[in-house]
Amino acid sequence: MKDHPKIRPDSLVVAAGRDHTPGAPLNVPLVPASNFVRGGSREYVRGDGTATWDALEAIIGGLEGGDAVVFSSGMAAIASVFEQLATGAIVALPDECYQGTVGLAEEGERKGRWTVRRIAVEDTEEWIQACGDADLIWLESPSNPLLRIADVAAICAAPRKSGALLAVDNTFATPLNQRPLELGADFSVQSATKYIGGHSDLLAGIVTSRTPELLAGLRRTRVLTGATLGALEAYLAVRGVRTMALRLERAQHSAMLLATRLEAHPLVSKTRYPGLASHPGHELARRQLGGFGTVISFDVKGGAAEADAFCANAGLIQLATSLGAVESIMERRAAVHGQEHLPPSMIRLSVGIENPEDLWEDLDQALRKGAGQAPG
Ligand SMILES: *Cc1c(COP(=O)(O)O)cnc(C)c1O
Repeated sequence: MKDHPKIRPDSLVVAAGRDHTPGAPLNVPLVPASNFVRGGSREYVRGDGTATWDALEAIIGGLEGGDAVVFSSGMAAIASVFEQLATGAIVALPDECYQGTVGLAEEGERKGRWTVRRIAVEDTEEWIQACGDADLIWLESPSNPLLRIADVAAICAAPRKSGALLAVDNTFATPLNQRPLELGADFSVQSATKYIGGHSDLLAGIVTSRTPELLAGLRRTRVLTGATLGALEAYLAVRGVRTMALRLERAQHSAMLLATRLEAHPLVSKTRYPGLASHPGHELARRQLGGFGTVISFDVKGGAAEADAFCANAGLIQLATSLGAVESIMERRAAVHGQEHLPPSMIRLSVGIENPEDLWEDLDQALRKGAGQAPG
């Protein structure tokens, strides 16, 4: 594999992870094998992976500026980081965080493996203090689903307790908009199910790090827990990530346009998007992120009934959970189990790559129709 030390991230996603041997296939092949003929560099896939894994790890490692370890899902990647903790560890977790991560942290606390302290996403002082006494500092920025912004650079730069680990869930930002390892994080974690795959057709997770011992620990956990990525998923993730820069650019541009119009819409009471000047984290997001992302959270005027009527009237935009795909998807988040604390009419919209004017027409007509139909 040739090195491309000078190319930019949007070229790297296209060029990295290819075999340049004359006669080699231009695209990394899907290798459906569990074991290999003895005598080579690989014996068994759970421990040794395949060329398809290698390609995905080369691309994401190159983007994040470290080495990548692929997992069977984003949650497997997150659990593998937690697995590196010694019993009795203190975990600092954002007060708003991916609900799977919260569930994992709380489960471990119930079992006496560690204790969890929740810290407000924006409370940089408290995070800096936590760096002095916690064993795992877990950041997620922008946060899901309210898109709050943590000062990742300031927290990464704070003096840390000896041996403490700092991880950033970089799923919402993607390595194109934010590179935590460059800021001093030990781990950058991705649910590759989202933007990297980009087509709502796979589950995958990736952790990157620059520290050989930490990478060895992650690989050991992957072997021992069997959190191994399937061959087809690895192939689809490589196929998907080739267009990630293009998809993100388009969707991000559309998201800015839609957020601006939603904010001015008479049937929307609140719009949250880091690209809007009204967003409390806007200035920080401008400094910290290469782009504002593709997710918008907005409150339909009224309550849950109005928001449900709005959703039922959408046509082009699919009602579904998840995010980061070519198709635009949305859901009323407070209707999701465990998310009842959110504003009842809040919609999380993941903007896809459709024509933004079609998306706007769909949102506008669904808002108007929904307002006419909601009871009382
Ligand atoms: C989806 C998601 C995860 C979990 O990833 P899976 O691939 O579904 O296991 C973790 N963090 C964030 C921010 C996510 O959006």
